[in-house]
Amino acid sequence: MAKAPRYFAPRVAAIVPAAGRGERLGSKTPKPLVKIGGLPLVVYTLKCLFRVYPFAQVLVPVEPEAVVLMRRLLKRHGLAKAEVLAGGAMRADSVRNGFERLRGDIEVVAVHDLARPFISAADVEKLVATAIKHGAALLAQKAVATVKETDPSGAVVERTLDRNRIFLAQTPQVFRVGVLRAAYAKVGARSSAFTDEAALAEAAGNRIHIVPGPAMNFKITTPDDLELARLVAGRKRSF
Ligand code: C5P
Repeated sequence: MAKAPRYFAPRVAAIVPAAGRGERLGSKTPKPLVKIGGLPLVVYTLKCLFRVYPFAQVLVPVEPEAVVLMRRLLKRHGLAKAEVLAGGAMRADSVRNGFERLRGDIEVVAVHDLARPFISAADVEKLVATAIKHGAALLAQKAVATVKETDPSGAVVERTLDRNRIFLAQTPQVFRVGVLRAAYAKVGARSSAFTDEAALAEAAGNRIHIVPGPAMNFKITTPDDLELARLVAGRKRSF
């Protein structure tokens, strides 16, 4: 007789927006192709994701003109399971394009920035469990510095915020599929303007539960971040 499985894992998909131009990086190489740990960033982050969680589907929106090249690159690195598709003008559009391609049996979706290569298995597990329980879960780093809000000029402090209540949003951001679908329906065309899906779900009236995130899950945005990521990747075991 076949052994009954010990538990039923939810069917979780990942959408990895990778269609940004990476202008703040100041590099001639498109951000998904800059190297860390000897690999193009897109390969490094996807290998990390596949290692930390058994995602049932992985969708990667990229710049439309890069789709063919990206498919070839991922295949060469044993990542043909990742589905490459055309992203949109804004980050939110890219994620939405991925969302439209989710398989019908997917119950939970994790959105994770390509530019955050150092995600841990423990954090993904916690996020998925929290999203299943509450509908929406956000990995976010508690502010460690004292936080100032300025006047509109950006040059003069207007007030000091209570840092115990300040968290910097990271990814993965994880949702029951129905929660995100309802949020898209409710917010409509305004969805393009949101800089992350937690803000979109929040605008649609959901409570977003925080899972404390580590500083190591930083986002590669500037040349300094890239240098730091290369140092970190150099110290980790390779794939
Ligand atoms: O611009 P930002 O750093 O917030 O981008 C976060 C993520 O969204 C990056 O991984 C980037 O590749 C992606 N993105 C996208 N489509 C866009 C703009 C950004 O997939 N149109």
